[in-house]
Amino acid sequence: MVRHRSQDAEVIVVGAGPGGSATATLLAAAGHEVLVLDKASFPRHKACSEYLNPGGVRVLGVLGVEAAILAAGPHRMEAMRTVAPGGRSYLADFTKVGSGRVALGLSRHRLDHLLLQRATETGAIVRERSHVRDVLVEDGRVVGVEATIAGTRERLRAPLVVGADGHHSAVTRSLGLDVTVRWPRHTGLVAHYRGVTGLDRHGEMHVAQHGYAGLAPLEDGLTNVAFVTNAAAVSGRDGSLEHFFEQGLAGIPLAAEKLASATRVGNIRGVGHMARRAHTTAGDGYLLVGDAASFLDPFTGDGIYEALRAAELAAPIASAALRAGDTSAAALAPYRAARRRTFTTKRQVCWIVQGFVHAPVLMDYVTERLDHRSALGQTLAGVLGNVRPARQALSPLFLARLLRP
Ligand SMILES: Cc1cc2nc3c(=O)[nH]c(=O)nc-3n(C[C@H](O)[C@H](O)[C@H](O)COP(=O)(O)OP(=O)(O)OC[C@H]3O[C@@H](n4cnc5c(N)ncnc54)[C@H](O)[C@@H]3O)c2cc1C
Repeated sequence: MVRHRSQDAEVIVVGAGPGGSATATLLAAAGHEVLVLDKASFPRHKACSEYLNPGGVRVLGVLGVEAAILAAGPHRMEAMRTVAPGGRSYLADFTKVGSGRVALGLSRHRLDHLLLQRATETGAIVRERSHVRDVLVEDGRVVGVEATIAGTRERLRAPLVVGADGHHSAVTRSLGLDVTVRWPRHTGLVAHYRGVTGLDRHGEMHVAQHGYAGLAPLEDGLTNVAFVTNAAAVSGRDGSLEHFFEQGLAGIPLAAEKLASATRVGNIRGVGHMARRAHTTAGDGYLLVGDAASFLDPFTGDGIYEALRAAELAAPIASAALRAGDTSAAALAPYRAARRRTFTTKRQVCWIVQGFVHAPVLMDYVTERLDHRSALGQTLAGVLGNVRPARQALSPLFLARLLRP
C-alpha cells in the first residue's frame, strides 16, 4: 500500500515485547511500512519467569529468529516438573510428546532484544524511548497515537495501530477496553539466582498453600526464581520486598532446598494483579496482541507463546486489510475469530489448572495420578507445551481417566 502524505506509517505497533516485535517482523516481511514505538531502551529487563514453551519455540522458526536465539545460549528444557503441596510430582516431558521440540530458558533481556533486532532486519522502523500516551480517534476509528518522543509530544498517524504494550496497555486504557478480572488476584515476583542445584534438563513449579514458586534455568548458569502469591499479601506485607520474597520461598521446602547454596543476582521485579483482559481485540483501525489483549497467570507458561502466536494470527489478516485499504472492524474481525479458535480451549485448561493450584488436596490428587498414568501425563505435557490441541485435555474420557481413583 502506498503511504499517504497524511500518515507516518502503514502500521504503528505500540510496544516492542514479543507480541509487538513478532507482529512488526511479519508485517514488514509482507512488505508493509511498520513503525514500532517502545517507551523503553533495549535491551531491557521484564518481570517474567523467562520460560518459552515448545509451542512458542515453533513460532521463533516462523519469524526466522530461531538460529539467533539458539546462538544466545538458552537453557534447553526437555521437561517441566510440577511438585504438589504434599510433595508428589509430575514430569511433563516434552521429548515424549513426539514434537521434537523443547522449551527454552532465556532472559527477556536477551530474548526481547533479539526479537526486536529481527523486526529491524526485516525492515520495521523502531523508535525506542517513545512513550505512547493516547490513541488518536476520529469519527469513531483509531487513526494513530500521541506519544512523547525525546521530550516532545508527537502525533503519529497510520491506518492501523497494533496495541502490543503489555500489562499496563495505554492503547486499551485509552480506548476504554479494560475488563476488571476479579480472580485470580496474583502478584508475581521474580529474580535471577546463581548456584541453584538439582535442575538440569528441566524447570520446576512448586505449589504450596501460600502461593507457588517457579524455577527456570537460563543462559550462563543463571536461574530464574519466581514467587507468585495473593496480591493482597504482597501489598499488605510488613517489611521489605526482599524479605517477603525470601520468606515466601523458604516456606516451600522442596524449592528452598534447591536454593540453599544459591545467591540472588540483581533486583526482584514484579507485576501486581497479573490477570487482565480487554473486552475486544480488534476494532476500527486497531488490533491488540499479547498481554494487551489478555493474560491469565504465569503458572502454565503461556504468555510469550500467546503473544507470538497472536502475531502469527494477526499478520495475514492485517496485511490483507491494509492491501484492500480497509482496516475497519469488519475487515479485522477474522482476527477475533482466529483468537477464539486458537486460544479459548487452552484458556479453559488454564482455568482448570488454576482451580487445582488453589485447592491443595485436589492438586495432590491429580499430580499423583498424572505421575502414575503416563499416557495422560504425556497428553497433558503436549497440551501445556502448546504442541497438542488443548481439546485433548478437556475430553470427557481424559478427565474421567484422570479423576477416577
Ligand atoms: C511474574 C511473571 C512471570 C511470567 N512468566 C512467564 C513465563 O515463564 N513464560 C511465559 O511465556 N510468560 C510468562 N509471563 C507472561 C509474559 O511475561 C507476558 O505474557 C509477555 O511478556 C507478553 O508479551 P507482550 O509483548 O504482550 O508484552 P510485554 O512483553 O510486556 O511488552 C510490552 C512492551 O510495551 C512497552 N510499553 C508499555 N507501555 C508502553 C507505552 N505506553 N508506550 C510505548 N511502549 C510501551 C514496554 O516497554 C514493553 O517493552 C510472566 C508474567 C509475569 C508477570
